[in-house]
Amino acid sequence: MLEPSCYRLIATAWPLTIQLWMHQHRPMHEMSLCESALQIIEAQARIQTFHRVRRIVLEIGTLATIDTDALRWCFEIVAAHGVARGATLDIVVVPAHAWCQACALAVDIAQRGDACPRCGGHALMTDSGDALRIKELEVD
Ligand SMILES: [Zn+2]
Repeated sequence: MLEPSCYRLIATAWPLTIQLWMHQHRPMHEMSLCESALQIIEAQARIQTFHRVRRIVLEIGTLATIDTDALRWCFEIVAAHGVARGATLDIVVVPAHAWCQACALAVDIAQRGDACPRCGGHALMTDSGDALRIKELEVD
């Protein structure tokens, strides 16, 4: 862990959300996501005048079908020459939420097509889980 004195946490304008567009099955899906995330981080570096990112926490919805190993690999390439070079990348996979019409409740699901964990029904409306979100940055 970093000492609190050696970084400041940006509390404004977070979390920033990058919505994935669905049906994106082309190769190097993770590369374009990394590029989008880095563009946002570089823009924030200019706005908030920080020069180095020490740690990035990315929150990924379980429905986003992102290969986290590929994401880390792409990140190292994309971040090699910017403010985020050498930054620690923490990836948090969060469950998707769906609304079960039968239970009239929000439930967690692991993937599209899953049944409701309470009633076993399939009348579910997915309302999140396919987003990539920059949850936290530690910067100098
Ligand atoms: Zn249900």
